[in-house]
Amino acid sequence: MAKIQMKTPLVEMDGDEMTRIIWQDIKDILLTPYIDLKTEYYDLGLVHRNETDDQVTVDSANATKKYGVAVKCATITPNAARMPEYNLKEMWKSPNGTIRAILDGTVFRTPILVKGITPYIPTWTKPITIARHAYGDVYKNVEMKCPAGSKAELVCTDKDGKETRETIYNFECDGIIQGQHNKSTSIASFARACFNFALDKKQDVWFATKDTISKKYDHTFKDIFQEIYDNEYKAKFEAAGIEYFYTLIDAVARVIRSNGGYIWACKNYDGDVMSDMVATAYGSLAMMTSVLVSPDGIYEYEAAHGTVQRHYYKHLKGEETSTNSVATLFAWTGALRKRGELDNLPELMNFADCLEKATIETIEDGVMTGDLYLLSTLENKKKVNTVDFLKAVDERLKKLLG
Ligand code: NAP
Ligand code: MG
Repeated sequence: MAKIQMKTPLVEMDGDEMTRIIWQDIKDILLTPYIDLKTEYYDLGLVHRNETDDQVTVDSANATKKYGVAVKCATITPNAARMPEYNLKEMWKSPNGTIRAILDGTVFRTPILVKGITPYIPTWTKPITIARHAYGDVYKNVEMKCPAGSKAELVCTDKDGKETRETIYNFECDGIIQGQHNKSTSIASFARACFNFALDKKQDVWFATKDTISKKYDHTFKDIFQEIYDNEYKAKFEAAGIEYFYTLIDAVARVIRSNGGYIWACKNYDGDVMSDMVATAYGSLAMMTSVLVSPDGIYEYEAAHGTVQRHYYKHLKGEETSTNSVATLFAWTGALRKRGELDNLPELMNFADCLEKATIETIEDGVMTGDLYLLSTLENKKKVNTVDFLKAVDERLKKLLG
């Protein structure tokens, strides 16, 4: 069979530990036998980030801007323990943080549903996609401890030097304060990314903040979303038969009672917390896909989980691992499908569809890694190792490709 050809390279960001092992296995077993894989390769493994003073991360993000689509392996965000382990020059920043700052995007996380794994919320029969605003709020805060007797104020000096002040609190005892910000441009990008993604997926958008309490901060999020929706998306949404729905963050009650099948837009912190909750409720972090979408239509696909360090140390000792490769696999299929869409390569898009289908069929046939084996209610389930799972997917992929 002739290999599927590509036009534009994918930006390939390699990573660390067990996911780096899986990355190569996926390419060897499921991609290069079928595709004449064109990638521009960036090694974001911690060793190479350290060698390049993290320049490679910046270069990979700039390449993503140039080509439009990237696929990223999980990477280590160094902490104190990693300093001696990798003999680091510096405690390099989170690559995801660096990439997000350059691409200015929104992160969409969607669970992969399979028969036999029932969500902890059984009414969730369709996936809920969490759209997390990836800029500002508590992640770019400044904070102080205030001793008893201090007066804390919020001061904004405009470009002419005029000050506006608000008292935060007059402290009769020791206390704490925190200053947060966000930018209208970033909130607008967030809104557009959510509305575009919704049109792409033909799903409703739910957005929730606490605007009744936060009458300026959260209310601005609400207003910007509404204005952009009314001016730019209302007609398109109506034509697509989908809705934009704003509600208070107390929406969690509705979310729990829903059947899923929509995009839940969350402010940065809400998205951080809710995406972990939603992933866990659907079954496993290893079944969660993640894509960063920038306002100018750039896509970066990855798995939501980390480098699965514990499994890697077993692997290094020569022990067998049963690590779930599904989210990493879906990062590749997402990126290949998007490349196919942009370059008008139906064969490549079909390949991505078939590979996803083969992966789900494998699990629904009862062949799965240890994490899913613990959760699955299938009677004929069988636990396999990391590589045997990929080989089982390949058997089914061959049949689907005919
Ligand atoms: P993790 O790699 O997500 O793994 C935590 C635990 O979750 C694992 O020990 C494993 O549980 C389970 N798990 C996660 N993914 C799995 C998979 N694919 N298959 C089977 N089980 C899986 O998180 P971590 O151990 O906290 O972090 C490890 C490193 O990843 C850190 O250096 C962190 O900085 C990095 N990280 C990177 C990203 C990213 O690049 N996007 C995201 C998060 C963390 P059991 O051990 O019980 O089997
Ligand atoms: Mg988190």
